[in-house]
Amino acid sequence: MRHFPIFLDLRDRRVVLAGGGDAALAKLRLILKTEAKVTVFAEDAAPEIIAWDAEHKLRLVKRAFAPGDALCASLAYAATEDDAEDARIASLARADGALVNIVDNLDGSAFITPAIVDRDPVTVAIGTEGAAPVLARKIKADLEAALPPSLGILARIGKGFRSAVNVLPRGRKRRDFWQSYYFKIGPEALANAGEPGVEQALGDLLVDHISAEDRAGHVALVGAGPGDPELLTLKARKLLDEADVVIHDRLVAPEILELARREATLLDVGKQGFGPSTRQEDIGVLMVEHAAKGAQVVRLKSGDPGVYGRLDEELDVLDEHGIEWSIVPGITAANAAAAQLGQSLTKRGRNSAMRFLTGHDVKGFAEHDWRNLTKPGQVAAIYMGAKGARFIQGRMLMHGAAPDTPVTAVENASRTDVRIIASHLSTLPADIDAADTTGPVILMLGLSPRQAATQLPALQEEFA
Ligand code: SAH
Repeated sequence: MRHFPIFLDLRDRRVVLAGGGDAALAKLRLILKTEAKVTVFAEDAAPEIIAWDAEHKLRLVKRAFAPGDALCASLAYAATEDDAEDARIASLARADGALVNIVDNLDGSAFITPAIVDRDPVTVAIGTEGAAPVLARKIKADLEAALPPSLGILARIGKGFRSAVNVLPRGRKRRDFWQSYYFKIGPEALANAGEPGVEQALGDLLVDHISAEDRAGHVALVGAGPGDPELLTLKARKLLDEADVVIHDRLVAPEILELARREATLLDVGKQGFGPSTRQEDIGVLMVEHAAKGAQVVRLKSGDPGVYGRLDEELDVLDEHGIEWSIVPGITAANAAAAQLGQSLTKRGRNSAMRFLTGHDVKGFAEHDWRNLTKPGQVAAIYMGAKGARFIQGRMLMHGAAPDTPVTAVENASRTDVRIIASHLSTLPADIDAADTTGPVILMLGLSPRQAATQLPALQEEFA
C-alpha cells in the first residue's frame, strides 16, 4: 500500500485550487462537500465556478497562481490541465507548505483523491493507487446501490445520541446497542415514523439495554473452509464479525482473518512454540479464560472443525468448565479438492462410499483397512498424507492394489495458488517430491482430474 487512507478534517481549513476547466470542476464538486474555505485561481473560469463565487461557496481570484497563494493551505490542487503550468503551480504550493495534488499525475502528487460514496456522515473512500479507475468506478456503483440513502440519516441521528449511550459500559454492551440500532430498530423506526420516530426509538432502545442482563460468554467452533473466503458460510462470517476473540489455526487463510471484527483479539495457536501435546491444553485454557470473562469467542479451524480438528477434546474442556458452545460446520478440504478436480466424491457405479483417512496419527504413519482400499473404484481423501506418500504406496501395493490406481495430490485447494499433481500409486512419492509443495496437501486416492480421466482412453487408443 503506497497511499495510506485517512480522513482529513477540513472544517475552516484553507484549500486552494488552480484551474478553471473540467478537471477543476470535477475536483471542486468533491471539495465543496466539505466545510473547507476554498479559493480558486483561474484567469478563465467555467460558469459554474463563477456562480459558486457569487453564492460565496468559494472565492474566485481571476489570475494565474502566484508565489504565496498556498500559504496556510492544507491542500493545493493543480488542475489547469497544462502539464508545465501544473508543475509550476505544484512547486510553488509545495514551497508554501501545502500538500499538493496534480490532477491525473500520480507521481507528482503527495496525495490522491479517492472515489467517494457519500452518505454523510458515512463516507466510503475507494482507491486503486491509480491502477484501475474503471474498477474504482464499478465498486463505487455497487456500493451506491447497496447502501440505502437512509444510512446517512441514521448515522447523523445516531451521532447526536452517542454521549447518552456512554451510560452503557464500553465494549460489547455498547456495540450490541449500536448493532441493534443500525440494523434493526433504526431502519424500522425510520420507515414507520420518520426522523422523530428514530429519536424516540433510540431512547426506548437505550432503556432496554440499560436493564438488559449481560450476555454470557460463548465459544463457537467454526469451520473456516479450505481457504477461499467465498467458501465461508454466512454463519461463519457473521460470527467473525461479532467476535471479541478469534483463536485460529495456522492453516486459516489471512484473507479470512481480515473478516474478523477490527477490534477483535486474534490469537494464532498454530505458530506458537509449544510442543504438540501441551498446545492442545493451551488452546483449551485460552478458550475457557476468555469465555469465562463473557467474551464471544470464535475458535476458527480450517475446513470443517469435525474433520481432523481435535474438536472433541476442545468440547470436553468447555463442558468441564460449563461454557456454552456451538459448532458451525465448514467445507472440508476433500470437498474443495474434488471440486477442483471436476470429480464427485461418490459416483454411481464407481464408489457408493468414500473414506476420510489421515496420513499420520499420534503414533506416526497411520494404519488403515488397506485390503478394502485396494478394491477397484475405491475413493479416499487422505489428509496430512503428503509426507506419508511412500508409506501409503507401500501398504497399498503390498495389499494388492493396481500400480496404476490414480491418486491426485491437491495443494492449496480453493486458493489462488492451487496446484494439482495428477499421479498414480506407482509414482506417487516421486511425483510429490518433485512438486516440492509448501502449502497444505490432500491426496485424493482413486480420483484423477476430470480432464485427464476423459482424455486417457482416447490417448490409449491412439498409441495402441
Ligand atoms: N479440518 C480440516 C483438516 C485439518 S487437518 C478440513 O476439514 O479440511 C490438515 C490437513 O488438511 C492438511 O494437512 C491437508 O491434508 C488438508 N488441507 C486443509 N486445507 C487444505 C487445502 N486448502 N488444500 C489441500 N489440503 C488441505
